Amino acid sequence: MKRAAYEKQGGICKKCGKPFAFEDMEGDHTIPWSRGGKTDAANCQMLCRACNREKAGK
Ligand SMILES: [Zn+2]
Repeated sequence: MKRAAYEKQGGICKKCGKPFAFEDMEGDHTIPWSRGGKTDAANCQMLCRACNREKAGK
């Protein structure tokens, strides 16, 4: 599922717009589970580690 999202985005981080290797990216739920988000490809995006950490910290 993460790989599918990665391929769909063309390896580009959804937040900063830079290309990253698959290994350097992490899956992120567009809609958090706490707000009713589902665990499927439509609700999955790939962010680079820096962006994912930044989002988690807010
Ligand atoms: Zn990023």
